[in-house]
Amino acid sequence: MDTSNAFLVPYVGLKAEFEQRKNELTRAFEAIGSSAGYVLRDEVSQFETSIADMLGVGYAIGVNSGTDALFLALKALNIGPGDEVITVAHTFVATLAAVVHCGAKPILIDIADDFNMAADKLEQVLSGATKVIIPVHMNGRCCNMSAILAVAEKYGLHVIEDAAQSLGAHIDGRHAGSFGVANAFSLHPMKNLHCYGDGGVITTNSASLAEQLKVLRNHGQNATKALISFGFNSRLDNLQAALLNVNFKYFADDVKRRRELAGRYHQGLGSVSGIKLPQPPEDSGYFDTFSSFPILSEDRDLLLKYLQAKGVECFIHWETPLHHNQYLNLGNIELPMTERVSREVLSLPIHPFLDNDQCDYVITAVREFFDGY
Ligand SMILES: *Cc1c(COP(=O)(O)O)cnc(C)c1O
Repeated sequence: MDTSNAFLVPYVGLKAEFEQRKNELTRAFEAIGSSAGYVLRDEVSQFETSIADMLGVGYAIGVNSGTDALFLALKALNIGPGDEVITVAHTFVATLAAVVHCGAKPILIDIADDFNMAADKLEQVLSGATKVIIPVHMNGRCCNMSAILAVAEKYGLHVIEDAAQSLGAHIDGRHAGSFGVANAFSLHPMKNLHCYGDGGVITTNSASLAEQLKVLRNHGQNATKALISFGFNSRLDNLQAALLNVNFKYFADDVKRRRELAGRYHQGLGSVSGIKLPQPPEDSGYFDTFSSFPILSEDRDLLLKYLQAKGVECFIHWETPLHHNQYLNLGNIELPMTERVSREVLSLPIHPFLDNDQCDYVITAVREFFDGY
């Protein structure tokens, strides 16, 4: 059930966005319907080219979700039983599911205080079976890629970026999705660039991996429709690509607006003791896209209740760390920062359709909570 209407300040701006782009989106839908071109047509290639050009990578391959983007990247690298993949527990479950469904074992390490992989923990969990590192760029911020790439290079490991939350983020101009051998993005409606259902894209600089991934996403068929392996049905729908091509035009402006709002939150909340804010928009070399604005507070549960009562919709990602889930059997490990984040994190509304008054309303509500506390 979509309850966002019940909130004065909704967490996402999807309805407002649709109202604004309705004419263009409708025209794109009509064009696809009239041409009856639903599978792997020009709209998919056009979208792939836009992504590859923006990120400065050789190839982008549209697939049906961020989850499949990760899964197919692992498959293309022949990751399977007996292999270990190092990643983080502070991620969406799909990162780990992709590893498990390949038959490999996820090895989980802690995060640093920017919510991203603590690169200094990597060497502690290396084994002879380690094949891949999956850094997850959380909340629109890149991981410390120079440190992660240095470990990968030293031990001959592949890097697959889970950049599902961080399209457009970069470090010193180098984009998320351009560091690893094959990298995954999601185009789910909750992500900064989204379609109207599920979608994903893989980026790579390797022509041979790109070719292999195109075969894998399309039932094992190559460009001449010859069947050369068993594959999957994991194409990005042409209709979704047509709608993505509309949203892509607004993407840079959308990110700009998110960064403005992040700056506004910093200005308004920077002096509040009792909360820790994420890194500010201007942070030496890092260009964050603020797909979320997560704050930390020891009073998180009470703060959440207070904000909800004020009509502010917030989000907790995530209340139970994955390694504490009783059904996933991820081992008896301790990840102190991951666990602290589960207890203390609260993501405030941040999206391109949030206006300054709404942002200020959230700021005032947070300040009231701590002043009167
Ligand atoms: C959203 C997300 C995914 C999965 O993407 P889907 O398109 O929903 O399959 C994977 N990893 C992270 C970090 C995500 O946020």
